[in-house]
Amino acid sequence: MGFWHRNITGSDSVKNCTQEKRAVEKPKEQISGGNAQTPKAKKLKIPLNKTTSEVKYILNSVVFSCPICDEINTLDLNELDPILGGETLCVQCQDVLHVPGGYRTRSELPKLKIYAGLPVAVRKFPVFYWNHPVIHELDERGITRIIIQYGLWGFCQRCHHQFSPAVLMNLPHTTGEIVDYRSLSSDEMVEMKSLRTGCCPYCSHRILLVIISEVPHYVISASENLSHRWDDRR
Ligand SMILES: [Zn+2]
Ligand SMILES: [Zn+2]
Repeated sequence: MGFWHRNITGSDSVKNCTQEKRAVEKPKEQISGGNAQTPKAKKLKIPLNKTTSEVKYILNSVVFSCPICDEINTLDLNELDPILGGETLCVQCQDVLHVPGGYRTRSELPKLKIYAGLPVAVRKFPVFYWNHPVIHELDERGITRIIIQYGLWGFCQRCHHQFSPAVLMNLPHTTGEIVDYRSLSSDEMVEMKSLRTGCCPYCSHRILLVIISEVPHYVISASENLSHRWDDRR
């Protein structure tokens, strides 16, 4: 978790008060605090999920080592949805693992990876989400809504309750921000209200295990066939 401390205290433009006298002779732009263009343009570098692409087939199962603890895990292919894949817990470290459905259908195999959950404090989730390269890429393509169906998984680290992606992606950055609850189900409302206070509604734990994965092409084309509402721009 040391990562977050590094980045959040990262405003370095104020550090050199002692050198201000010399700055009178050599004008420096950084002293005028008025240029509003730059401050937020700096993208936060966030940690990404650990993954493995070393996956073997044995009978009707995939066998792989956990990206976190290296323990060998086995998953029956029948437990994988061909499009949505499946989630499982590492038998050793109990981290959440996402296995893409392409392993079952053998689609896009060279690009597929198994993802392990990353611990993210509930309070830091919006920063993590909005700085994630996958989310930026989906946003540029105008298909961010696909993340409700595929690409974002969030679980309580302690009780493993799985949160709705629609709740997670709409979590506000600050406590004062107004949230539109109308599109949420009553279960999602419970999640939203509790996560806004920084904790799991069922066990009060404050850390999520989050996976944000790349969205394979077969998921995008399936979504285009199933429903057009995912891409509002067309
Ligand atoms: Zn493990
Ligand atoms: Zn919990």
